[in-house]
Amino acid sequence: MTAQIIDGKAFAARIRGEVATHVARLQADHGITPGLAVVLVGEDPASQVYVRSKGKQTVEAGMNSFEHKLLPSTSEEALLELIARLNADPAVHGILVQLPLPGHLNEDLIINAIDPAKDVDGFHISNVGLLGTGQKSMVPCTPLGCLMMLRDLHGSLSGMDAVVIGRSNIVGKPMAQLLLGDSCTVTIAHSRTKDLPEAVRRADIVVAAVGRPEMVPGDWIKPGATVIDVGINRIERDGKTKLVGDCDYDSCAAVAGAITPVPGGVGPMTIACLLANTVTACCRAHGLPEPEGLTA
Ligand code: NAD
Repeated sequence: MTAQIIDGKAFAARIRGEVATHVARLQADHGITPGLAVVLVGEDPASQVYVRSKGKQTVEAGMNSFEHKLLPSTSEEALLELIARLNADPAVHGILVQLPLPGHLNEDLIINAIDPAKDVDGFHISNVGLLGTGQKSMVPCTPLGCLMMLRDLHGSLSGMDAVVIGRSNIVGKPMAQLLLGDSCTVTIAHSRTKDLPEAVRRADIVVAAVGRPEMVPGDWIKPGATVIDVGINRIERDGKTKLVGDCDYDSCAAVAGAITPVPGGVGPMTIACLLANTVTACCRAHGLPEPEGLTA
């Protein structure tokens, strides 16, 4: 079997198109422009690239982008003061504080200071609790993107066996909650799992979010299973820098029914889902119907 390649780039473009259509409708019918505020503390080069890309795509979707770039030495007090201002600003519907923060800042404290209704990253403890209890919440962008791809491929996920490899708060745990919400039978595997190959071999859906290059070989994959590879790992091969996932692409693609490539799979979906969450937050703030297909 040769797997169907799930084209995350094309899918993300479709989501961005749907977001832009909804934004245009909000403007035309209600005079509302959704706004996303992104806060970057410090000069981490990777974070600068992400923030630039988020701002560009926000504007391309017709939304307002508010960028706040703060010095690495910014105090917790000053950052909390900015978040309070953004919480109170009616032009701001989504707030994202780019992680990681410099070591002197308490990430939990900062994230939990964001108004949960504007927490478009879905990391606020209230949103974590709402997702865990199956209630309407803001859903973390990367797992939301994975869920959208799985629903698009399979329609209903009900009754499917899913394994999520990785238990981080950002990807693994919310991914497992979303799959459970769609009535999958979910196994969460992690670094202490005793027999990982056996757990993966049972799964109709494999979501790998580990951060270890090509650690899942094809012979762990059940024939026909869907493989969602969240991992982004930079490796040196043949004297060149290359991006690879957590799954060994060639051997997994030979067995799987469908697979996301790295790059071009899950990656592009993350920012698309951030835009989707911003529109959702804006609609909720104004008591308007939410766009269909852009939430969990
Ligand atoms: P993390 O380091 O916070 O968590 C990794 C998880 O993997 C941990 O829960 C750990 O228990 C588990 N793990 C580690 N070694 C293992 C092993 N040998 N066997 C089984 N499980 C093991 O990482 P994260 O933030 O969840 O990110 C995971 C990967 O996804 C990284 O490569 C990251 O770059 C990528 N990522 C991609 C996107 C995207 O937009 N595509 C977004 C977030 C993260």
